[in-house]
Amino acid sequence: MLPVVALVGRPNVGKSTLFNRLTRTRDALVADFPGLTRDRKYGQANYDGYQFIVVDTGGIHGDEEGIDEEMAKQSLLAVEEADVVLFMVDARDGVTVGDQAIATHLRKQDKKVYLVCNKIDGIDATSAMADFYSLSLGELYGIAAAHGRGVEQLLTTCFKPL
Ligand code: GDP
Ligand code: MG
Repeated sequence: MLPVVALVGRPNVGKSTLFNRLTRTRDALVADFPGLTRDRKYGQANYDGYQFIVVDTGGIHGDEEGIDEEMAKQSLLAVEEADVVLFMVDARDGVTVGDQAIATHLRKQDKKVYLVCNKIDGIDATSAMADFYSLSLGELYGIAAAHGRGVEQLLTTCFKPL
């Protein structure tokens, strides 16, 4: 069995962009429309020698209703079945109420969670990321999913304990 890596986080933080990079496809729906990926989507990744299943999710806001509620349910199911959870946040947005709600949920899970700060391209990454230590999820990993920066280091860290 290949390890399963779930990508969770608010809509628009770059989950599908990372999914596509890891699986080298354009299968996941990437768009400027937040929350377009409504179901869990699975792909097989072979990245820098690491082989795993990656799960893209529609995203969680933290206060769900209707379709959003279904998306959140899918995200929580993805967390349950994962060996590793990559909790993605947007470096440009700073910590949002939604991020805090997701962090609270993830801290209660008995899962290995890595806090991934995306979109660090073209900004002062160190100062943009400092805010996110308040989520109390330990070490932060800065990446630019759109360009691949930081992704190899992130995977090396994630797969070390597996
Ligand atoms: P999702 O809703 O979490 O799946 O987010 P998407 O992958 O659909 O990305 C949302 C938006 O963020 C799109 O416009 C992406 O092009 C953009 N985006 C994703 N990753 C990066 C990144 O590393 N840097 C920048 N600047 N934009 C990104
Ligand atoms: Mg998406």
